[in-house]
Amino acid sequence: MSAAPAAASAASAGRRQYDLGFARWVYQHVEGGDKVAMCMQCGMCSGSCPIGTAMDHGPRKLFMMIRAGMKEAVLTSNTIWNCTQCYNCVVRCPRKVPVTAILQSLATVAVKEGYAPTQSTPKFSKAFWLSVARFGRTDERLVTALYYFSHGLKEGIRRALENLPIALRMIKAGRMHLGLPHRAKGAADLRAILAKAEDIERAERAGGKPS
Ligand code: SF4
Ligand code: SF4
Repeated sequence: MSAAPAAASAASAGRRQYDLGFARWVYQHVEGGDKVAMCMQCGMCSGSCPIGTAMDHGPRKLFMMIRAGMKEAVLTSNTIWNCTQCYNCVVRCPRKVPVTAILQSLATVAVKEGYAPTQSTPKFSKAFWLSVARFGRTDERLVTALYYFSHGLKEGIRRALENLPIALRMIKAGRMHLGLPHRAKGAADLRAILAKAEDIERAERAGGKPS
């Protein structure tokens, strides 16, 4: 490649990596996002995080990246998925930045904008949600099957076979039943509550009032 196209390509990659409107967007649309501007980069949050070593970037660095407009790096980071919501950082932040809520809200944005297709946490959350919304409880067989096969047919079969001995032992010990999932008492009421909550959320997003 000649020098000019190489330079153009690098510039284009740079444009993709940096979105200078991203910080403003986060301030306005992410829950607690306006408080990112209050962060003084002291590092108390990252230093207090019990699983900081399992994160691509600690919260302090992630907030710096937001300010720098590194949209793609922020929304593909495992930081927003690995946060256990222990609130250590929130309690210790001298600027009262709602770190946990911001990370959670960024995770929601990442799913909506297609930045998290391979992340395990949203796959598991969807499986969990489906079971609870339908049956009013988590059926471990349903959640496990939905989660395994959300990685594709081949991977689903591989994981199912790998864990089959455990499932058989649980059935034998009476810790797992065969047949359809049991429906919780009041599951229909729970569905009505969830439908109402979705209605309210939709109306809030559209800026109107729920019906
Ligand atoms: S503790 Fe608060 S002020 Fe300090 S780096 Fe973390 S978010 Fe920023
Ligand atoms: S809430 Fe999340 S980011 Fe904050 S300390 Fe706990 S795990 Fe770390």
